[in-house]
Amino acid sequence: MRTPVVAGNWKMNGSKASAAALLNDLKAGLTSSTAEVLICAPYPFLDQVANVLNGSGIKWGAQNASQHGSGAFTGEVSVSMLADFGCTHVILGHSERRALFSETDELVAEKFVATLEGGLTPILCLGESLQERDAGKTIEVVERQLMAVVEKAGIHSFSNAMLAYEPVWAIGTGLTATPDQAQEVHSVLRTKLAQLDVEVAGKLPILYGGSVKAANAAALFSCDDIDGGLIGGASLDANDFIAICQAA
Ligand code: 13P
Repeated sequence: MRTPVVAGNWKMNGSKASAAALLNDLKAGLTSSTAEVLICAPYPFLDQVANVLNGSGIKWGAQNASQHGSGAFTGEVSVSMLADFGCTHVILGHSERRALFSETDELVAEKFVATLEGGLTPILCLGESLQERDAGKTIEVVERQLMAVVEKAGIHSFSNAMLAYEPVWAIGTGLTATPDQAQEVHSVLRTKLAQLDVEVAGKLPILYGGSVKAANAAALFSCDDIDGGLIGGASLDANDFIAICQAA
C-alpha cells in the first residue's frame, strides 16, 4: 500500500513571526500522523523551518528549483542549496510557475532531472485550465505534461517522485474537484505510467491539489488513486492543516 502524503505549499506567504507560530503549532499537533507530512516554504524561511522541524518527523521542501547546478543565474536557487538546508522535496511545474513565469513542459522536465540528480524528490504538478476542461482536453493536457517529463527523465525516475494533479480552476477558488473528477484523472495518469512500468506506477504517490479543506479531504483521500493532497491556503492555518493530515 502507498503511504498517504500531505504536503503544504505556503506559496509566497508569511513572515518570520507567522512561520514560527505555524511551525510550532504543527510540530505540537502532528505527533501521531500516519501520513507523510511535509511543508514547502518560501526559500528565506528554510533555515528556520529546518531548525524547528528537525527531528519532528515532518519533512520540508521548496516550491521551485533551478535546472542549473551553480553559476551566474541571478535570483535562482539550486537543488544542492536546498539539500544543504535539509529539504527532501521540491514542488515543480506548479500551474502558477507555468502560467505566471512561463515555465514550459521542457523546462519542468529539466528541473525534474536536476532535482533527482541532487538527491531530492520532485513533486511534479499537472493540471488543466477551465477552458481546457470545458473543451474536453483534460486528459490530453495532463498526459502531455506528464509525458514530457517521462521522455526526458525516464520512467524509472518516477520511483523517487510524486505527482500532484491540480486542476487550475480549483486552485484558490474554493471550487474543489469532486472525488470522482479527481479520481478519474489520477487513474488515467497511473494507467498511463503502468503501460511503461507497472511496479513504478503502482508505488507512485499521486496527490490531489485545489481547494482541499478539512471538510472535503477525507472524501478525496478515500479514492483508490488519490494518495493525499498538496494543500495551498489551508496549509497556512495549523488547525486546518492538522485536520487534513488526520484525514489522510
Ligand atoms: P489551494 O489549496 O489554495 O487551492 O492551492 C492549491 C495549490 O495550488 C497547492 O499547490
